[in-house]
Amino acid sequence: MKNFICRKHDSLLDALEAMNRNRKRIVFIVDAKERLCGVLTYGDISVLLLKGQELSQEISGVLKKEYCFAREGESRAKLSAKFPPQVLIVPVIDKARRVVDYMKLDREESARIPISEPSLRGNEFKYLVNAFLSSWISSTGMYINRFEEGFAKFCGCKHGVATSNGTTALHLALVALDIGKGDEVIVPDLTFAATINTVLHAGATPVVVDVDKKYWTILPSEIEKAITPRTKAIMPVHIYGQPCDMAAIMKIAKAHKLLVIEDAAEAHGAEFKGRKAGSFGDISCFSFYANKVITTGEGGMCVTQSPRLYERMRVLRDHGMSKEKRYWHDEVGFNYRMTNLQAAIGCGQLETIEATLKKRKELEDRYRKILKGLRTVEFQAIAKDRRKITWLLSILVPDGTRDQYMERLAEGGVDVRPFFYSLTSMPLYKKYLFSNANSLEISRRGISLPTQFNVTDSEISKIRRIFSR
Ligand SMILES: *Cc1c(COP(=O)(O)O)cnc(C)c1O
Repeated sequence: MKNFICRKHDSLLDALEAMNRNRKRIVFIVDAKERLCGVLTYGDISVLLLKGQELSQEISGVLKKEYCFAREGESRAKLSAKFPPQVLIVPVIDKARRVVDYMKLDREESARIPISEPSLRGNEFKYLVNAFLSSWISSTGMYINRFEEGFAKFCGCKHGVATSNGTTALHLALVALDIGKGDEVIVPDLTFAATINTVLHAGATPVVVDVDKKYWTILPSEIEKAITPRTKAIMPVHIYGQPCDMAAIMKIAKAHKLLVIEDAAEAHGAEFKGRKAGSFGDISCFSFYANKVITTGEGGMCVTQSPRLYERMRVLRDHGMSKEKRYWHDEVGFNYRMTNLQAAIGCGQLETIEATLKKRKELEDRYRKILKGLRTVEFQAIAKDRRKITWLLSILVPDGTRDQYMERLAEGGVDVRPFFYSLTSMPLYKKYLFSNANSLEISRRGISLPTQFNVTDSEISKIRRIFSR
C-alpha cells in the first residue's frame, strides 16, 4: 500500500511519482494522524497543471472536499453501482479512517487484460524530468552516450548508435554496409514488415525464405538454397524473442562472404550458446517501441564491434555531416537521431533490464504451466543452447480455429493479437518469394496473449478454459 499513500504536505510531483510506482494513476492522501483526507488521480493533476498549478504545489491546497472511498466490509457490487463510472479504484478505510487497502470497482474497462504495457517504475521518470529541466531535450546530452554505451555493453558489443526507431536502425545498418541497388538480402518470411521495407528503401532486392516449424526462426538450409552471386547479406530475425541458429548462419555467411545484420528488435537479452543476440552480426538492430522488451517510447539502436562502422553510422545518422568539419557533407545522410529525453527513459529501463527479463520469463513459465496438456495450444520450442526471452507471449492453435479463439478471447476481455502475415502472402511482397510453407502455417495459427507482469494465474486459468472448449 505504501506506493498509494501521500501526505497532505507532499507536492503534486510527489503524488505523480507515487502514481508512477503504483501504476494505478491514483493516490490516497492522509493527514498527520494517518487518516484519509482525500484522493488524487492522474486526471486531477493533469487538470491542475493545465490550469497553471506548479508541480511544487502542496497537495493540501488543491484537495477536493468530496471523494469516493469504501469502509471495510462494504460490498463491491453496491459501491460499483453507487459511484460514477469513471471511478475505477477507491481506498478502503478502517474505523479510524486509516487506509488499509484499495478496491477495484466492477468496471468493464478495468476487467480487460491488456496485451502489453510498458513498465516504467524505476528511475525513468526522474531521468526524464532531469533531461527536461536540463533543457537538453534534443539529440545532444549525457543520456544519449550513457544509453548507447550501456546498451552496447549489455549486448556484448563495443559500440552503440541510438536511432529514432528500430526501422531507421535497420535502414542505417544497410546503408552503412553499402548494401543497395543490385544486391540481394535474404530475409525470413515471418517477421514484421520493417525488415523487408528497409531492404527495399536501401534499393536492394529482398529474397524471402521460410522459417523453422518449431522455432519460427529463419531456416539456414533455405538461406543456403537462396544464395546467388548477387547475395550480399543475410538478415536473420530473432522472432518473438527466439534467437536464430546463429552458428549455422555465421558459418554460411563466412563461406559465402556475406554480411549479417541481425534484426533483434524483439530479442533484447536473448542468447545463442551463451552469446547475446546482437553480438554476432556485422551490425545488429534493436527497437525500443512501447511494446518491446525495454522502451524509450519510440527508439532504436545499432550495435557493432567495428569502430569503422560505428563512425560511419554516426555520420550517416546526422545528415552525413563530417564530424571534423561542420556543415561539410561527404555523403547523403539522414536525420535518424534519438533525443536525450528518449535516452533518459532508456537509461532507466536499462538499469532494470535483467529484472524485467526475469519477470517476463516467470510470466511465460506460468503460462506454460497452466496451459500445459492442452491439445489446442502449442508453444514456441525451447532449445537447450538458446536463451529464448519472452517478448509477446505467443502460441499456435490448430489450423482453422484461430479466428474463432480470438473472438472468444476478446469476448472474455482478453486482449489478443494475431501473428504477422507471412510477408509473401501479401501482393506487395509476393514477387520476392523464395519459400514460405511453414511461415504461412505459423502465421495462420498464431495468437499473441497478454504479456505484462501483472497477469494473474486466475486470468491465465480463464484463458485455459477458453482454449479447453
Ligand atoms: C518492432 C520491430 C521492428 C521495427 O521497430 P520500430 O521501432 O517499430 O521501427 C523491426 N523488426 C521487427 C522484427 C520488429 O518486431
